[in-house]
Amino acid sequence: AMTPATVAAPTPMMEQYIEIKAANPDSLLFYRMGDFYELFFDDAEKASRALGIVLTKRGKHQGHDIPMCGVPVHAADDYLQKLIGQGFRVAVCEQIEDPAEAKKRGGKSVVRRDVVRLVTPGTITEDKLLAPSESSFLMALGRVKGGAEHSFALAWIEISTGIFRVAETTADRLLADVFRVDPRELIVAEPVFYDPELKPVFDVIGRVASPQPPSLFDSASAAGRIARFFEVATPDSFGAFSRAELSAISGTIAYVEKTQKAERPPLSRPEREEQGSTLFIDPATRGNLELLRTLSGSRDGSLFKAIDRTVTGGGARLLADRLMAPLTDPAAIGARLDSVSFFRSETRLCQAVRTSLKSVADMPRALSRLALNRGGPRDLGALRAGFEAADAIAEIFAATALPQELAAALTAIKALPRPLSEHLTQALSEELPLLKRDGGFVRGGYHAELDEMRALRDESRKVIAGLERSLIDETGIRSLKIRHNNVLGYYIEVTANHHSIMTGSDGAKARFIHRQTMANAMRFTTTELAELETKIANAADRALSIELATFDRLTAEVVGEADSIRAGAEALAVIDVSAALALLSESEAWCRPVVDASLAFDISGGRHPVVEQALRRSGEGPFVANDCDLSPEGGAKNGAIWLLTGPNMGGKSTFLRQNALIAILAQTGSFVPAQSAHIGVVDRLFSRVGASDDLARGRSTFMVEMVETAAILNQAGERALVILDEIGRGTATFDGLSIAWAAVEYLHEKNRCRAIFATHFHEMTALAGKLPRLHNVTMRVKEWEGDVVFLHEVGKGAADRSYGVQVARLAGLPEALVGRAKEVLHQLEEGEVSGKANRLVDDLPLFSVAVKREAPKPVKNDALGAALGDINPDEMTPREALEALYRLKGMA
Ligand code: ADP
Repeated sequence: AMTPATVAAPTPMMEQYIEIKAANPDSLLFYRMGDFYELFFDDAEKASRALGIVLTKRGKHQGHDIPMCGVPVHAADDYLQKLIGQGFRVAVCEQIEDPAEAKKRGGKSVVRRDVVRLVTPGTITEDKLLAPSESSFLMALGRVKGGAEHSFALAWIEISTGIFRVAETTADRLLADVFRVDPRELIVAEPVFYDPELKPVFDVIGRVASPQPPSLFDSASAAGRIARFFEVATPDSFGAFSRAELSAISGTIAYVEKTQKAERPPLSRPEREEQGSTLFIDPATRGNLELLRTLSGSRDGSLFKAIDRTVTGGGARLLADRLMAPLTDPAAIGARLDSVSFFRSETRLCQAVRTSLKSVADMPRALSRLALNRGGPRDLGALRAGFEAADAIAEIFAATALPQELAAALTAIKALPRPLSEHLTQALSEELPLLKRDGGFVRGGYHAELDEMRALRDESRKVIAGLERSLIDETGIRSLKIRHNNVLGYYIEVTANHHSIMTGSDGAKARFIHRQTMANAMRFTTTELAELETKIANAADRALSIELATFDRLTAEVVGEADSIRAGAEALAVIDVSAALALLSESEAWCRPVVDASLAFDISGGRHPVVEQALRRSGEGPFVANDCDLSPEGGAKNGAIWLLTGPNMGGKSTFLRQNALIAILAQTGSFVPAQSAHIGVVDRLFSRVGASDDLARGRSTFMVEMVETAAILNQAGERALVILDEIGRGTATFDGLSIAWAAVEYLHEKNRCRAIFATHFHEMTALAGKLPRLHNVTMRVKEWEGDVVFLHEVGKGAADRSYGVQVARLAGLPEALVGRAKEVLHQLEEGEVSGKANRLVDDLPLFSVAVKREAPKPVKNDALGAALGDINPDEMTPREALEALYRLKGMA
């Protein structure tokens, strides 16, 4: 701090504050002063606004008042939650010595303080700040240059549970991979964060991403850092990591060290996720399908909410994680399905297991708090409860033949440390206090001296009760009380009108030593009472210190068993998820899907899980089940495309979404809402459903639609599943129709993937005559006295009309307007737009002809074909693709 000589030098405390604040410029500094954390200067102004608390002043700095606000230590968690929720980081600065020590140093010495922890969105461990069913990941991006190219990797950890994963990625996949994990915080080396090429990515990620010093990510020193953290000689035994992976791993560890200071969370060793082992779902699709949250950000209405029947926090988190990263290996998917099938057929066993699971507390989170020195007796209790439930479940499973995944879970449960479990049972009381300093959590009979001290303390309390009775007899004051508070300790209290009996200098009265005069009471003590008090206090102190020592011993034991506890907890989560999915499939009448390496996609009687449940709740009648078969047929090598037409409100989007969700559920290892389902593993899922409003970011709906469509057409291979809704709606009719038309041809000829394409351009149904793997289907409606009735039934063929005018009428547009609209429509139909479309199919050298299946060489003299030949979709940005699309359209 620079203090001009003319103004008063800052107080020693302010000097200390300024120094600590300077070292933590990005965080609000919670500066411990007695029972408060206080904030000063800008921090105080920001925090008082964010928390809605009073801004006051404390002293002066360089002649100006110092703004100040404070939060009580006991309520700090609530305030932290609000601040973290609003995107702040908080540095918690504690007194790190006894104030008495500072006094001993004399003079102007202030109590030594230091930041003991940085609280950031990705590093919180407090139960209050964590939703039990939501993961809270901290993610780091590693980027290294190898030759001309950069390679990228992501590492992510959950401090509260110890999960540690790492995966390679690319600049193109980065966004999708980040959204898949959905971290609370993404840390990025400054030069990467500010690289203009990556700016669009970090713009989309938003404030979750933050730049950090590049030294954290140094891949050269990473191995050493990792080895030190895990206390091993070299990290080689964890597997061979690429330089980018090492950089990302190093980033997470360095950030943990930076934020947790002296404490080390018990992270498991980094585990690599193989590329392609999970279903790739692009960010737009993830949002559209509302897997964990709806587009408006709420959990209600999401797929997760509709299918979650787990009974433990760990189970809910595992289910969410699985839903965000469905598998692509049929064998691995089959293993998960076997577990669900097992519980589905063993109904009674399933119920018994779930009953036991209900008493499981959050073991991994309790473990982490204990390891970080933030634990309390209830965390030990959580582990005890977990061990007990694990025993009960092992017993339930004892005589049963289990499928592979559950058998592995049982092994992990049985490997839970028995001595520790017994030790916890012996040592802990039934009822546990929140804070260890409250004492009373060690069970009677566990520790002889503790029992003795407690007896002494309780005995003395009885003696005090006796003393009170004899004092009442002696003085004749019936209202005399012996009370206790933290300032006076034990004292004798009489109401003011009785004080004359107690005060005076004659023999008996002299025993009463006056301590305090209140408005209507007087307080005294006696030597006898003081002695008793000392005895009680000593006994209580000794008892507490024995309890604290016991707590530390148990904690050390727990932390020593971190790996097996985590494995056991993970096993319980697997069991919970499997049993919950079995229960779900039973109550919702879901079926086990067949998932294999074919290109089939054959769903019969499929339903939309969220819409179905919503319709049931609102009593709006049953959900109409629909088939969908995109499997290759008639000797075709590739899957089919369904072109879906039908009126608005007919149920098109619901149908599109339900098929995407069924694929996701199946590959998650869940049963699916259908009568039967055969799915050849999908490697990439794309959907453009509904207009996701991107206007906030200044892009038109049409632009967004085109950018997303371009991404799909550039990336989808034959194993992909593509769901497109109303492409081309956002522009003029002929523009829109042409783009939609070309997109279907492109999907059919180039991507050759399974797809459902919904459109309100009825002209497009003519394409089925040209493209062999394209089939027309339509949402059935009935016309009844000039109105439409939606049957929500998907049938073969094309809708002959769009019923837009009828739907408008249902919506309540004035009759006169509806009548006029009918006339206009009639006139337009005379103008035979559809006739033109039919000629288009016959006359125009089709896109599909120009793009040959094997070698897409341009046909000579075909300008469109030549232009297409020049295009390499893999090398294009979505914007370039859009421009190309326009160019092509201009040529057609
Ligand atoms: P579109 O995309 O054709 O405009 P939606 O898919 O949005 O239509 O469906 C409109 C409404 O129709 C939905 O909100 C839902 O309540 C109902 N609906 C859709 N599909 C079905 C179905 N298969 N069974 C019953 N009701 C359905």
